[in-house]
Amino acid sequence: MIKLERVSKIYNNNGVLTTGLHNINLELEKNEIVAIVGESGSGKSTLLNVLTKMDSFDEGEYYYKGNETSYFDVNDMDNFRKDKVGFIFQNYNIIDSYTVLENVMLPFIIKGENKKDAKIKAKELINKVGLNNRIKNKGTELSGGEKQRCVIARALASDCEILACDEPTGNLDKQSGDQIIRFMKETNRLFGQTYIIVTHNKEIADYTDREITIDDGEIINDIDLLDVRENEVIK
Ligand code: ADP
Repeated sequence: MIKLERVSKIYNNNGVLTTGLHNINLELEKNEIVAIVGESGSGKSTLLNVLTKMDSFDEGEYYYKGNETSYFDVNDMDNFRKDKVGFIFQNYNIIDSYTVLENVMLPFIIKGENKKDAKIKAKELINKVGLNNRIKNKGTELSGGEKQRCVIARALASDCEILACDEPTGNLDKQSGDQIIRFMKETNRLFGQTYIIVTHNKEIADYTDREITIDDGEIINDIDLLDVRENEVIK
């Protein structure tokens, strides 16, 4: 679905050049759940930003569903993010003064749906993420895990094809973090989006299909974990 060919990015801060990405070749499939891991400063966020069109790059090509995207201007990048990408960050990015229902209705309203339809669709998603009993609670009244479920429901409401997750369990205790990762895997199997998860949390890899390790802006390892698990079962 997404293909990067020889992609490089250099940051230039007043003449000081830093490598963000160097010569990245990468293909992500629809439905995949991929972890991007690596030390701090290795280039994980830069890669996520390039993949989600939050940021541009200097060399190489980006193909989306076979189409080259080098002609994209700022508006095209905005539209790409709006139409195709849902974001799940560690600091939850929901609107705290809105209820769960209002938060999840928002993408439908933005898309121009009337309130009644938006409510019906939002309720379906809230049901799927198991937040029925919190539907009238405001963001401030939710636990970290509940907030993250609400964020996931809202991302799903935006009908995105890619879910970009930056340390989605970063602010959660281990138990809630594990629950959220399991839950993301369930929604991935149910709705079929591509999940790209930047993380320090080694255990997230237990739930992903693939683990990409990045070091100094380069991919140094790309493991198909489905394959690994299959071989373990055969052994
Ligand atoms: P990670 O997410 O793995 O911590 P980043 O992608 O944020 O790594 O950073 C990769 C490299 O690019 C680091 O050396 C970092 O200092 C540098 N970098 C990231 N953002 C900027 C920026 N806006 N300006 C200059 N250098 C940056």
